[in-house]
Parts: sequence; structure tokens; C-alpha cells
Amino acid sequence: MSNIVAIVGRPNVGKSTLYNRLTESRKAIVDDFSGVTRDRHYGVAEWVGRNFTVIDTGGYVANSDDVFEAAIREQVNIAIEEATVILFVVDVTTGITDLDDEIANILRKGKKPVFVVVNKVDHGLLQSDASIFYSLGLGEIYNISSMSGSGTGELLDEVVKTFDDDVVEENTLPKYAIVGRPNVGKSSIINSLIGKDRNIVTPIAGTTRDSIHIHYNQYGHEFMLIDTAGLRKKTKVKENIEFYSVMRTIKAMEEADVVVLMLDAVEGLEAQDVNIFHLAEKNKKGIVVVVNKWDLIEKNTKTVKVFEETIRQKLAPFTDVPIVFTSVTEKQRVLKVLEMANRVYANRAKKIPTSKLNDVMLPIIESYPPPAIKGKYVKIKYITQIKGTSPMFAFFCNLPQYVKESYIRFIENKLRENFDFTGVPVQIFFRQK
Ligand code: GDP
Ligand code: GDP
Repeated sequence: MSNIVAIVGRPNVGKSTLYNRLTESRKAIVDDFSGVTRDRHYGVAEWVGRNFTVIDTGGYVANSDDVFEAAIREQVNIAIEEATVILFVVDVTTGITDLDDEIANILRKGKKPVFVVVNKVDHGLLQSDASIFYSLGLGEIYNISSMSGSGTGELLDEVVKTFDDDVVEENTLPKYAIVGRPNVGKSSIINSLIGKDRNIVTPIAGTTRDSIHIHYNQYGHEFMLIDTAGLRKKTKVKENIEFYSVMRTIKAMEEADVVVLMLDAVEGLEAQDVNIFHLAEKNKKGIVVVVNKWDLIEKNTKTVKVFEETIRQKLAPFTDVPIVFTSVTEKQRVLKVLEMANRVYANRAKKIPTSKLNDVMLPIIESYPPPAIKGKYVKIKYITQIKGTSPMFAFFCNLPQYVKESYIRFIENKLRENFDFTGVPVQIFFRQK
């Protein structure tokens, strides 16, 4: 189940500081991709073993004053619709402003759990100033300092209690989510697959549609398609279009087994696509990259290779991902997308027998063991695949703490070379034995 925590509030209360704090355990990973992180406003956080997505609404609002308050109001409404929990951040140093009051009014009418987070309570003396925020009429308040992190643990303890429990899925069909920026061809591919033209660009006034689930059962393939297209006209404020589609994409993605990330060949892979890719990767989803509108590209014998290389470079280090070049309008390789999604789904569910795993991997390890550190040798005794929804392997050894990241990468590559895990994140753990 997907749990989304939305951080709302007016500017300068500390939303992005809080966002950074909640997602900071993952920062090391994020920093590897510097250059694409600057416009990242959503990410994965973890508390007491629960993973959830945090979204900082602040990043989506423009600073031009005329649209500004309307944009914030609309954003709060979108957050109420789409998020599991809302963190309403206010600032103890300013007290309650008109905009705070306005946001509180909207939140009171919504049906989602709201936590009033009083930020910048950097020291005990400010605790008494914070009590004014009870008058927002949203119940308990949580005093924190995003800067130092104080109070955030108590807050998160309560936040995770509101999460949906992981429910056992009643429907066991594979779930594929088709995601990507507007106009890349998501609706077109779905129409071409299901063979009838759904008029998805006409939103029904006043209603909101959840991502649509389509039961596909043709040509020997049966699965659920999760469609995120057709949602773009919902908001009136331009700045919120992206916010809205990102919320929907995150939800669809968390539900999916395999994420089909669609690109427009003319535009290529942009920062936003890379963000979606990394989120899918961190959530251990299967991934297929589809480069659509291939008909619009002038090609020679090297074009595919050059495109593939450029894309893989931007996806590094997780590059073992299928890339399919399609033209939906010319009906080129549309079924190939399904075949790839099926293969990735199977790879994600794959269980390698322990004997086979050891027969293949132990000789490799023997001829290329982990380098000795301070005269100590790491001896890997045996390997098993751990039960889970995505591939995880435990390597039992005497000194797990001496195994370096570079060796883990080597092992991962060898696993990928010997067993097909294309399109799936693989986790490797070294454990004491
Ligand atoms: P946003 O616009 O709501 O995302 O706010 P920011 O996270 O950008 O923070 C606005 C300002 O408040 C920045 O100068 C932060 O350094 C500061 N700030 C954020 N959290 C705290 C805090 O806990 N204590 C103090 N004293 N300042 C903070
Ligand atoms: P969505 O916003 O991702 O759902 O994109 P649409 O499916 O609505 O497609 C946007 C536009 O791109 C439409 O005008 C489509 O006809 C066009 N389109 C979709 N696939 C292709 C393709 O393979 N080649 C070309 N040339 N145009 C395409």
C-alpha cells in the first residue's frame, strides 16, 4: 500500500527543511545524481521500518504573487485528495498568519489526518509560544525544530500510526503502471493495446478520477494496467499540474509491480524522468523504459545505440534496464513493451535455488575474493536468496563489515550476468556466519 505524506504550509515556515530531514537517510544515494536533485520535491523516507513517500508541496508553487495564494489553496486541496497524511507546517516565530488560517479552514473540511507541525521551536522557551496554534482547531500540535531534528521522532511515531496496513492483495494479476510526462503517448499506447478509443481527455466536471485500472487479457497476456494519463486538465493553476501528476504517478507506481516509464524520443530523458526512475528503483519496482515517437527521429545504423547509451548514462548506476523504441502511431513494437514488462515481472518474482546460486557464485568469488583489509580475509561461505517481493540475496561470511561497496557492485554484476534480472533492482546483504 502506498502511504504518502504531504507537507503543506505557506512559504518560509520550513517545509523544505523538514522534507530534507525526513528523507535525509537516503541523501547519500540522492547525492550521487547531483544535478537532478535540485528540483526533487518528493522522496522516500523511513521510520520504524515503514517506508513512505514524502512530498514537499512548496517546490511546486511559483513565487509570482497573483497566482500564489490560489495556487497554495488548490495545492492543499490536491493534498487532501491524494495524500494519506498531511503535515501542516506553521512557524512559531511568526504566530498565526491569515494564510495559515485559510489553509487550516480548508484542512478542517477535508477528511484526511492532519498534523499541525509547529516548526522552529529550537529551544524550550518557545514551547509556550507554540500553544497558540491549538486555536487553528486541528487538534494536537507537534513542536519540532526541522533544523536540529528535535521533536520529529515523536511526530513520526504518530504519523506512521495513521498508515494503511499492508493488505494482502486480493488480485494477484501482475500490475503495470504506465507513467511519464504529459504528451509522451501514454493514452495512445493504452488505446492501442485495448483497441478502443477512450475519450480520456474529457474530464467530468467536479469529479476526480483515480488512476484507472484496466484488465488486459489478450494475445495470451493477462495483467492489470494502471493508467495515469488524462489527468492533466484537472487543475486551473499551471504550477499545480506537475504537482498533481507527480502525486498520481507516485501512487500508481507504488501500486505497480512493473513501471513502464515512457519518454518522447524527441525530448529524451529529462531530470523529471530520472527522478521517477530513481523513485521506482528505490521502491524496488521492475522498470521498462519506452522511447516513444521513434518515427519522428531521423535514423541511421547507430541511432539506437547512441540513444541507449545516452539514456543508460543518465540512469547509472542501475543500467540493466530494458529500453524499447516504439512508435504507437505506426504500431511499432507496442507488443514488445508488454513482452518486456512480462519478462521484468518474471525476473522480479524469480527464485534461484540455493544449490544453483552457490554452484555459480562460489567459484566466481573464489577466483576474485574481496580484497583483504589489514591482513584480514573475508571468507564467503554460502549464499541464499531471501524471501521477498523483489530479489534479495544474503552472502554469509566471517567479516561482513569488511566488504566494500565496490565488491558488492561486482557481485551484483555477476548475479546479473548469470541470472537474468534485467529491469529489477537487486539487493545484496553480507551477513555474519
Ligand atoms: P519553506 O519555504 O516552507 O520550504 O521553508 P524553508 O525550509 O526554505 O525554510 C525557510 C527558512 O526557515 C530557512 O531560512 C530555514 O533555514 C529556516 N528554518 C527552517 N527550519 C527551521 C528551524 O527549525 N529553526 C529555525 N530557527 N529556522 C528554520
Ligand atoms: P499522454 O499525455 O502521455 O497520454 O500522450 P497522448 O497519448 O495523449 O499523446 C500525445 C500526442 O502524441 C498525441 O497527439 C498523439 O497522437 C501523439 N503520439 C503518441 N504516440 C506517438 C508516436 O509514436 N509518434 C508520433 N509521431 N506521435 C505520437
